[in-house]
Amino acid sequence: MKSLAVMGSTGSIGRQTLDLVRQDPGAFEVAVLAAHSNVDLLWAQVQEFHPPVAGLYDEDAVKELRNRVDSTVSVLTGEELVAAVTTAEIVINGVMGFAGIRVTERALTAGLRLGLANKESLIAAGDLVLSLVALGGDLIPVDSEHSAIFQALGQSRELPAGFAQLVITASGGPFRQVPAHLLEKVTIEDALAHPTWSMGPKISVDSSTLFNKGLEVIEAHYLFGVGYDEISVVVHPESLIHSMVEFTDGSTLAQLSMPDMRLPISLALYSPYRSSSAHGAIDWSQPRTLTFEQVDRRRFPGLELAYEAGRLGGGAPCWMNAANEVAVEAFLASKVGWPQIYEVVARTMDSYEMCTPMSIDEVIELDRQARVVAAERVQVLASV
Ligand code: NDP
Ligand code: MG
Repeated sequence: MKSLAVMGSTGSIGRQTLDLVRQDPGAFEVAVLAAHSNVDLLWAQVQEFHPPVAGLYDEDAVKELRNRVDSTVSVLTGEELVAAVTTAEIVINGVMGFAGIRVTERALTAGLRLGLANKESLIAAGDLVLSLVALGGDLIPVDSEHSAIFQALGQSRELPAGFAQLVITASGGPFRQVPAHLLEKVTIEDALAHPTWSMGPKISVDSSTLFNKGLEVIEAHYLFGVGYDEISVVVHPESLIHSMVEFTDGSTLAQLSMPDMRLPISLALYSPYRSSSAHGAIDWSQPRTLTFEQVDRRRFPGLELAYEAGRLGGGAPCWMNAANEVAVEAFLASKVGWPQIYEVVARTMDSYEMCTPMSIDEVIELDRQARVVAAERVQVLASV
């Protein structure tokens, strides 16, 4: 039986992780459940999975949780809650956004297996995260595109001889066919209505702007040690091929399944083995079409911006990620419109000064500074 810490257990990734635990009784024991403020759902999960440790990062919510649990559960918050991941063998980081960085750091420092859905922590602190992996941690990508590449490489992050390029697929998001002049008018609801995946609000908005694809390009660069010229993006609206590896002899290996995050999460739990339950198996008796098209970089300029930040390296991806998180939050709070998400990120990037953070603390400080700049940009745009 493997012990499991599910960080962000009340979110889309966290709930699907617990679904897998439920489906394989006796395979996993839940050591830690953690979320931000959703005390009702966390409490229900505690009652079902009986973890020795549970916690919330929100101060009021954690007080409420303490009122509900009995003495068999330690209720933690803050750094103590992050540190509790070391009581598990496998950590699933399903925390939303940059806030997940300490979980990534702690799990890898302790040499644990980290199933990483929280791409933002790798993007913001890529080289530092890799140096922690080198100390003995085990990093398994959960993002579906990177899991596809991991699978195409034989459950490995090593590039084989004859490697030519990674091809990351994108559904194109809800606005793939929306003409440029109508993008001014899209609503929060429109942006959240992803055509093929059901996910949390932040990543859904990122998918609508294609910043998510940009973040995934940077994520692939760090995970697989691939240069930016060897990573391309292609729109594939059916979301059946989750990404591909192309070789110098012209061969391409792809991973296909229906859109279901439980498949990539299960790899993080079972690799090098596979789950005996199918998630996202394709019904091959049905006629299907696979289509591909190029990204319209004029309507979705965020992808290019991410390539630029990735190529700059150092603190640039951290700066861009922070700006994007602030911009998305402002959009979801109706402070700025959808096209202004890009404006906020681009104008925040104008203020980026080349630097290379040397520790996770320095990354956190850089993220803080970028958020201040991005919040100013939001203010300016909100007052127009
Ligand atoms: P959700 O918004 O559904 O869930 C986020 C989880 O993180 C919740 O448990 C939430 O707790 C918790 N959380 C939010 N803010 C904080 C914080 N400040 N500190 C600690 N915990 C916090 O997100 P998703 O599950 O969709 O995404 C999680 C991560 O996985 C993201 O990095 C995303 O990019 C990545 N990912 C998600 C995919 C998906 O299909 N959903 C696919 C690929 C990657 P509470 O509920 O209490 O607010
Ligand atoms: Mg993805």
